[in-house]
Amino acid sequence: MLEKGGVIIDNPGMRELQLWDASDGLHNTFLDIEELAAKCKFSDCQHETEPGCMIRKAIAEGKLPVVRFESYRKLQRELLAIERKKNPDLQRAEKKKWKKIGIMAKEIQNRKERGM
Ligand SMILES: [Zn+2]
Repeated sequence: MLEKGGVIIDNPGMRELQLWDASDGLHNTFLDIEELAAKCKFSDCQHETEPGCMIRKAIAEGKLPVVRFESYRKLQRELLAIERKKNPDLQRAEKKKWKKIGIMAKEIQNRKERGM
């Protein structure tokens, strides 16, 4: 709420919402992989060559098709790429928005000084 009765509304970024949905989708689609990953020896397991990796074990035992794991990794990378790609745009948009607000504030100040 502003002093003179105005209101500034900061709506949540669409980017966050979209990413959240995508991450959620990834989680649901690859629930079996997520469950296996949770049992890995290391919580930050990259499922590459780490000892005690349950995903590697499941693949070796034929319980998890390697193509399925690869599509999981691919989706994960894509999500990360989207996040990285959209960040600079968001920052630029934010800068532009604040510049506009700054100009508007100056105009209001000028009008006040001129008694308008
Ligand atoms: Zn692992």
